[in-house]
Amino acid sequence: MKRIRIKLFGILIALPALVTLVSSLGHGQSADPPSSAPIDVKRLVKPTILIIDRAGQPVANNEALATAAAANSILSSEFVWTFGGKEQHGWYLYTPLIDSFLGIDDGPGSNAFALALARWQETNGLKPTGVLDEDSLGAIILKWQDARIKNRDLAQPEQLVTVSAAEFYDPERLEELRQVEKTTYAAYKRMLAAALKEPSLHLAHNSDGTLASDEKYLKIISAFRSREYQEKLRRQSPHAGRAGLAVNSPHFTGRALDLYVGGDPVETRDANRAFQIQTPVYRWLVRNAGRFGFRPYFYEPWHWEYVGEATNPNNPPKALP
Ligand SMILES: [Zn+2]
Repeated sequence: MKRIRIKLFGILIALPALVTLVSSLGHGQSADPPSSAPIDVKRLVKPTILIIDRAGQPVANNEALATAAAANSILSSEFVWTFGGKEQHGWYLYTPLIDSFLGIDDGPGSNAFALALARWQETNGLKPTGVLDEDSLGAIILKWQDARIKNRDLAQPEQLVTVSAAEFYDPERLEELRQVEKTTYAAYKRMLAAALKEPSLHLAHNSDGTLASDEKYLKIISAFRSREYQEKLRRQSPHAGRAGLAVNSPHFTGRALDLYVGGDPVETRDANRAFQIQTPVYRWLVRNAGRFGFRPYFYEPWHWEYVGEATNPNNPPKALP
């Protein structure tokens, strides 16, 4: 067995050409679909180099790492893919989740991101190119989705508790729409207590550890939904699509909480999500919600599901009974 595996697949893209491409396209977090011609992603990422060995150590030079980083910069905003029947542009909206998943703090354009990704690819049967292409993005999303609630049976009345209107984003929300599964509510309160202790979040709260009436962040927007209520929401938003308002919603269980993380509370437009993913509260949730048993729905920054046990996101929890 070769100790070091550096393989060239086809021709390594010339770095100067790639850098020119990056600067001409820009890689900001624009919400609008790119106006330039679609990029041939396969051509961009396929002729690439493996940048680590079997022990996860970097074997490529900095130039190869930088090439992967430059490809990630472009792909993060330009890569066209489909989710929930809708065309998606780039994966920059998921950078906080990807960073947390890889255990790093660096953005897509960094060598550290490429290296951490290559190590993850190597241990997950993918070519360790350090480039977040279709296969790797798909594999990561699969891990996230696999960590969510699987059994979406309707909660029974005795499993639910009615929460005070003061804890909801809409203080006039009707009582029948303020029900939460009991263990989920207890976990939410533990998580909230931890968030209130985090001074950088600046959450206005009362002396009894509840959020102040004029504080919006982390208040509950929506929790338990009956099948009838879900159908009503679907009729009101016929264009929400499968990725948004599911027929078989995790909200049926009372274990899914939509929490306010900024912007328009539950709006999936890229511009809105681009705002939400950079709020301190969302970033705190990404790093901390897992400790309290909550898992994200990557596509909706506000949607968190209580799965009952705190584990590493790389290590999906067992399905709930
Ligand atoms: Zn939700």
